Amino acid sequence: MKVCPYKALSVLESLGLNALSYKTCPATASVSACCTALQSTSLKTSVHDPSSPAYHISQANYWRVDNTQFYPSCIVQPRSASDLSTALSVLVSTNDNTPQCRFAIRAGGHSTLVGGTNVEYGVTIDLSVLNRTVYDEEKRIASIEPGARWKDVYGALAKYGVGVAGGRGGTVGVGGFLVGGGNSHHSALFGFACDSVVNFEIVLPNGTLTTANSTHNPRLFRALKGGSGNFGIVTRFDMETFPQPRNSIWGGIVTYEHDETNVNAQIKALIDFTANVKNDPYASLIPLYTYISTMDRPVIVNSLVYTKPYADPYPDAFKPFYLLSNISDTTRQTDLEGLVGELEPESGLHSNFFTVTFANDAAILKKAVEIQERLIRQVRKIAKSSEWNIKSLYQPLPVDLLWLTWDHIDDTALFDWVGETFMSELDDFARSVGGEYPYVYLNYAAESQNPLRSYGEENLEFLKAVAKEYDPHGIFQTQLHGGFKVTLA
Ligand SMILES: Cc1cc2nc3c(=O)[nH]c(=O)nc-3n(C[C@H](O)[C@H](O)[C@H](O)COP(=O)(O)OP(=O)(O)OC[C@H]3O[C@@H](n4cnc5c(N)ncnc54)[C@H](O)[C@@H]3O)c2cc1C
Repeated sequence: MKVCPYKALSVLESLGLNALSYKTCPATASVSACCTALQSTSLKTSVHDPSSPAYHISQANYWRVDNTQFYPSCIVQPRSASDLSTALSVLVSTNDNTPQCRFAIRAGGHSTLVGGTNVEYGVTIDLSVLNRTVYDEEKRIASIEPGARWKDVYGALAKYGVGVAGGRGGTVGVGGFLVGGGNSHHSALFGFACDSVVNFEIVLPNGTLTTANSTHNPRLFRALKGGSGNFGIVTRFDMETFPQPRNSIWGGIVTYEHDETNVNAQIKALIDFTANVKNDPYASLIPLYTYISTMDRPVIVNSLVYTKPYADPYPDAFKPFYLLSNISDTTRQTDLEGLVGELEPESGLHSNFFTVTFANDAAILKKAVEIQERLIRQVRKIAKSSEWNIKSLYQPLPVDLLWLTWDHIDDTALFDWVGETFMSELDDFARSVGGEYPYVYLNYAAESQNPLRSYGEENLEFLKAVAKEYDPHGIFQTQLHGGFKVTLA
């Protein structure tokens, strides 16, 4: 059967989706042997080819628009762990080593890696239907499926007056976030979000459904905490919860003019905050230096969050930020569900993340501002995009996340260059003052970066050994499209 691109576009239009944003359709594509094999199982109604509206709804739902430009031969949406086990068994046994048999995994689809979550002429396993959150009041454990979005998780748990360490953007998916680590508003209290997972339910590359926890498959349990999609597909995360009644969080977004006084005061406040975060782990900060081309001026934006109630204007941990004069301030008493919509820019642009880690040193932060301002001037002269943004987030570890967005596809090389230049200049400077750290946070890393190697030789060897143990034929190293692979680290 041939897939007609015109048919695909007319399906989009009938759904009210903007067909013009889907710039390329494959001229021809064969429905692969894998899709045919999937359709001949109990999964039949969960396998969607390009003539199905479900196919296009899934395609339209990626954070980075470039990932909508891959056209899988079919998309399978398992409804249960056992569906997923069937799907994976079929994909592996139908393996004829042709590109058609390749597959990709997507949970929330927020990864900014191009092709990490979708695959041309292959099979995309879309976990979005696996999105339940179930709370066990007796054990105080939340069981969360990988296709859930954090806003919905927080909403489901708020009914019981509890929370989990999860994403700070409401539409971020659970699956990718937790297997990559997970930087949350509760990181200073509980570590990475994956540290709160006490049990993984997982389908191994050979289709076996099993669990991994501290006593059963303990090596796999450890590897899944940051080792990303190298070992199988997690179908359920059992997470420790903590009391978090509704309206028990103080927080919001404060914006400030980006003038010399504020930049210097912000750097000083940020250095103090990071140095003292261990003294008050309820305080969580996302500081942004942000340039939005449509405003044509940089601004400073701080997301200030205190994960317990607070009455005075500002908790002590944030007092230095209180002294800066601001343009707007939304801080209030709220909850996780209320917070996570606030710092989430619109999806659907071209975007990329880059990251670097360095010491808590004012000279490095000053250098970062200087590099960013120079790059903004350079991009302003040549960018074709009508809307583009350069944002850097200096978060305590401190990890710098450079977040780039643009709306003209021809600018992709330009913004990749911006990311790589920024990272290498900042890293070089940090090294020159003895403040460089090798750590590259996987969930913020660009494709050109190597987060798994940054875990250190011993940890990387451990991850490779676990991958070999649970995937002896290397299916997730070769047949699974995209993502950070232990064998390529
Ligand atoms: C707006 C926005 C806000 C963000 N905020 C934060 C934040 O606060 N803290 C933070 O740490 N990060 C944050 N991130 C980064 C985010 O953690 C990553 O993009 C993460 O991959 C998103 O998870 P997802 O389920 O949407 O991933 P997807 O894009 O669906 O998947 C990414 C990769 O994860 C793997 N994967 C996904 N599900 C599974 C599974 N069930 N089993 C095995 N492997 C799987 C696959 O290899 C897949 O390719 C943010 C990103 C965006 C765009």
